[in-house]
Order: sequence, then C-alpha cells, then structure tokens
Amino acid sequence: ALLSVGCPAFNEEETLGGFAAEVEAVMRALAQPFEIVFVNDGSRDATLARMMSIRAARGNVTIVDLSRNFGKEIATTAGLDHAKGDAVVVMDADLQDPPELIAAMIDGWREGYDVVYARRRKRRGDGPVKRLTAALFYRLMKRIGSVDMPENVGDFRLMSRKAVDAVCALRERHRFMKGIFAWIGFPSKAVDYDRAPRSAGQTKWNYWRLINLSIEGITSSTIAPLRISTYLGFATALAAFLFGAYFVAKTLLHGDPVAGFPTLIVVMLFLGGVQLMVLGVIGEYLGRVFNETKARPLYFATSVMPSAPSALENAPRANPRTMDG
Ligand code: UDP
Ligand code: MG
Repeated sequence: ALLSVGCPAFNEEETLGGFAAEVEAVMRALAQPFEIVFVNDGSRDATLARMMSIRAARGNVTIVDLSRNFGKEIATTAGLDHAKGDAVVVMDADLQDPPELIAAMIDGWREGYDVVYARRRKRRGDGPVKRLTAALFYRLMKRIGSVDMPENVGDFRLMSRKAVDAVCALRERHRFMKGIFAWIGFPSKAVDYDRAPRSAGQTKWNYWRLINLSIEGITSSTIAPLRISTYLGFATALAAFLFGAYFVAKTLLHGDPVAGFPTLIVVMLFLGGVQLMVLGVIGEYLGRVFNETKARPLYFATSVMPSAPSALENAPRANPRTMDG
C-alpha cells in the first residue's frame, strides 16, 4: 500500500531538506513505499527550487505549485487532492510534527482506523499565553460546537483513502481544517507525542492571525453565535423592561425629579453597542454566505509536477541517494 505524505510549505527553504531526509529515513526503516506531496503555497523564497531539487534527486515527489499564497488550510487541501496514496499523512514542513510518529500512525491504520491523529502531550514550543488561549478556545468550541473537536490536535494525522475522499468532498471556501476533520467522523484513534519547537525559520502565526483563526473556526463550524445573539436580544429587552418598571415604581412613590443624564447616555451607548455587536455577528455569517455562493475553485496551481509512477512501486532502497538537495 502506498503512503502519501502531504506537506504544505510557505517560505520553508531552510526546513525542506531536513524534512525530506527525515521522512525518507522513517519510511526506509518501515520498508514503506511512499511519495511526498509538496504544496508550494506562494512562497517568496527558494522553497520551490528546493522542492524541485528534492524531486530531481528521487522520483517519488509530487509538487503542487499554487498560483499565490492561499493559506495553510487550502494548501493542505491541495496536497490531499493530489495525493495518490492509499493513506495520506498530513504534516508541517518545519519538523514540529515528528516523522517517527508515522510508524505508530501506520499501525493504527493497519488496525482498521480511518483516522489516526497526533495529539500533543505538551506544547513545548509555545509560551504560557498561547497555551492558555488554546485551552480557552477548545473549551469554547466544546461548549458551542456541534461536533467534538479533539483537544491539542493539529493537522498532523494519517487518513485512509476513505477519509481523504471525504475531506476532499467538502469544498467550502471557509476551511477550518480542525472542524472539517472532526465533521467527517470515521473510526479515529489518537497517538500522543511531544511537540518540539520549530527546527528553523519563523512561525507565520501571530496573535492577530490566531484570533481570526478562532473566529473562522467558530463561524465555519457552528451558527451558535446567532443563537447567542437572539438570547442576548431577549436579555437586553428583559433588562429594559425591568428598568422601565423600576422607573414607574420610583415615579409613583417619589414623584418625578428629572432623570439623570448619565443614566440616559449609558443606556443609549449600551443598546447601541449591543446592536452593533449583533449586527457584526450577522455580518460574519452574511460574509461567509457571500463567499460560498461565489463557488470559486479553492485554488489555482501554476503547475503540478507528479511523482514518477515507477518510483512509487517499491519500498525505499536500502541505501538510496540522500534527499536533501
Ligand atoms: N503554511 C502554509 N501557508 C501559509 C502558512 C503556513 O502552507 O500561509 C505551512 C508552513 O509552511 C508549515 C505549516 O503550514 O509547513 C505550519 O506553519 P507554521 O509552522 O508557521 O505554523 P505553526 O506550527 O506555528 O502552527
Ligand atoms: Mg510550525
């Protein structure tokens, strides 16, 4: 059975050589036929040249060169689209996803699981703030989401052909991969590992992007915020009613001195704020409807360089040429 290793890469010239070498070492130890599917996500450095020299050194490398930077989620999908394997492993180029884990994933696959995902035991590369925000996000998703999203699980996973086809069948533009992976279901199993810090290069996730990713994650997998807006509206109306009743009672008991200007301004700003916030929530969903109705293709590829079929038939040779170009 052929295994594909899908790897999205954006400005990863420093990490690709080591990545390919490590993946190959693991596959050789397992005597597992494999291909690597590199997706160049509009890199502005020598990433594509790196991929091509790795591909030239061995035949079992597919390169999907996207026409611009589409983001990791779409790049990952492009990799799945072009993977030929009976199972596909998705992993990052920066070696934060240890290739050694693929062995355990293949074991799970042979046991009959369609999805074997890697679960981080601890987040060594992340600071305390990132850990806390991540924990809060998962707690929120568990509360309001309709499917269970396993905690401390990234994109690093093995999927059977069945699961890959399921993921590829979901062509929504707003792709929150964690949500999509959770939504397709299938018998799944976790393997635990320690996440290492990046081997080289810079992470592309600053806090602003993480906040936006969280909003994306929530709005693309649940409409709970709309429901919450409704409740918020009811709560505000109820509060206004009680407030009104209080004023009626107060006027009847104590007469009618002029109500304070501060109270007025606070109430007005509060109501205005709530309205704008709820409008924003509706707008988020409306924007998504807009994007989805355009029904554009997810990405365009400048070129696709397939792996050589002859290179996929056999397990890696005992002593092949090195893969880092
Ligand atoms: N990546 C990508 N397109 C992007 C951003 C990232 O293909 O627009 C790739 C990147 O090259 C890497 C993976 O996604 O292989 C994870 O990126 P990163 O290491 O920056 O994220 P983190 O590990 O911090 O989650
Ligand atoms: Mg990383």
